[in-house]
Amino acid sequence: MTSTVELSPLNIVLLTTEAVPFAKTGGLADVCGSLPQQLAERGHKVTVIMPAFRQVFGCGRPIEPTDHSVSVEIAGKTVTARLLKSYLPGDQCEVLLIDQPSYYDREHLYGDAQGDFWDNCERFSFFCRAALSAIDTLDSPPDIVHCNDWQTGLIPAYVANRFESHPWMDHVTTIMTIHNMAYQGQFWHWDMLLNGLGWSEFTPDKMEFYGHLNLLKTGLVFADSITTVSQRYSQEIQQAEYGCGLDGVLRNRRDVLSGIVNGVDYQIWDPSTDQHLDTHYGIDDWKAGKQANRSALRQELGLEDNPEIPLIGLIGRLADQKGWDLVTEMMNNWLGDGSPVQWVVLGTGDPRYHQTLSDLANRYGKRLAVHLGFSDKMAHRIEAASDMFLMPSRYEPCGLNQLYSLRYGTVPIVNPTGGLADTVTDTTDETVRHQTATGFHMNSFHARALGEALDRAVTTYRDRPDVWEQIVRTGMQQDWSWRQSALRYEQVYQETINRVH
Ligand code: ADP
Repeated sequence: MTSTVELSPLNIVLLTTEAVPFAKTGGLADVCGSLPQQLAERGHKVTVIMPAFRQVFGCGRPIEPTDHSVSVEIAGKTVTARLLKSYLPGDQCEVLLIDQPSYYDREHLYGDAQGDFWDNCERFSFFCRAALSAIDTLDSPPDIVHCNDWQTGLIPAYVANRFESHPWMDHVTTIMTIHNMAYQGQFWHWDMLLNGLGWSEFTPDKMEFYGHLNLLKTGLVFADSITTVSQRYSQEIQQAEYGCGLDGVLRNRRDVLSGIVNGVDYQIWDPSTDQHLDTHYGIDDWKAGKQANRSALRQELGLEDNPEIPLIGLIGRLADQKGWDLVTEMMNNWLGDGSPVQWVVLGTGDPRYHQTLSDLANRYGKRLAVHLGFSDKMAHRIEAASDMFLMPSRYEPCGLNQLYSLRYGTVPIVNPTGGLADTVTDTTDETVRHQTATGFHMNSFHARALGEALDRAVTTYRDRPDVWEQIVRTGMQQDWSWRQSALRYEQVYQETINRVH
């Protein structure tokens, strides 16, 4: 099948816990906010089902009641949720919200400073079971149920087992997308009682993982097809180093596993229209545009405004995954008075990194500005203001900030793993000659290698402005829009339907 073949419109239900603008902690939300709209533009009917978290009610989208409610027997009680309704921006995709305040009306989605919420298995088992009944209320039965991450991992098992005999299950095809293998939803075995599937499913070839219940594994075992968010990551997770214990499960299912890189929503992430910027720019005036944004941010953050000194941006969850240990170790050599660079950091997460970064900012305030929190506006402004962007991730399923950086003329410096390897081309003599260079790769996952990659970038910025200009322009011209990725999802849907039915 080629991408030019016209497919008949599909009825798609996408299950997720995050979707921009309703609720977001990371890239999952960007994907689940954009992919449905792209698919709808291609003629498919897409309904998103997600929990009505507290964040949802403050997101600015109108939320309406429906005539429906759903009840689930769980943990020895009957729990009922109202079904609420909204739409993704553009009003093409309906969003059904499962409203049960005792589970979802909390400040955070999955946990707080003390750790994960103790009742997460119950919260998301309920979500999956309520979603089955929510699908019953749709005008027409779905062709595809597209599940995302462990919170939705029970759904493929319910469909495969024809749980509660929902009529639409006979004709539906399930897709499981892995956004991050490290988060698996692993619980003690007694939590099996929450999902109603019965102990016959609690075996090592199904839902059990070394005596525990594993909800991501459940999804991977039972789904008709599996996707993950970059080609390279789809290969990496079949190896022990990246598979987080499930590499064997994935090797078993490699025939139905594919990698589809995430797209960028250029309506939100483009410096020529970005609603968070005072000065817009494009490829022809990137230098002046970036300088104006850089000066404004430096002034606001109290950093010296010297065009000779490049500004390096970092944005992300403060988690080990993102390589903050390397960053904070390496930064010590790049923060003194004579340092050739300045830093701006935006992040929230692990209290250890909050502490280390605050300490560094207190000590080196002239060279480092740290914003510990979640701020969409600040993320956009940092992308526009920075000359370089650091992403030294230990592993990275896809990564979005390097894609945003490319469009904003902010040269990414990355550890070439997962999606970072697939989307950023290292600067070498050869790639400069072929005009394909878009960034800088570390040659291993060490603080020293990060320092070396940064050094190469700074030297190029300072001593070879013509090459720098070429790298920036090549990056800005790249098209990582959702169009191609939505086409690939469409192909996976169709191939799976053809294989299963
Ligand atoms: P992950 O999903 O592993 O967190 P991604 O790079 O795929 O990483 O996506 C992260 C998304 O979350 C990006 O859109 C990024 O800009 C955003 N983000 C992460 N941390 C923050 C923060 N502190 N403030 C604002 N946006 C953030």
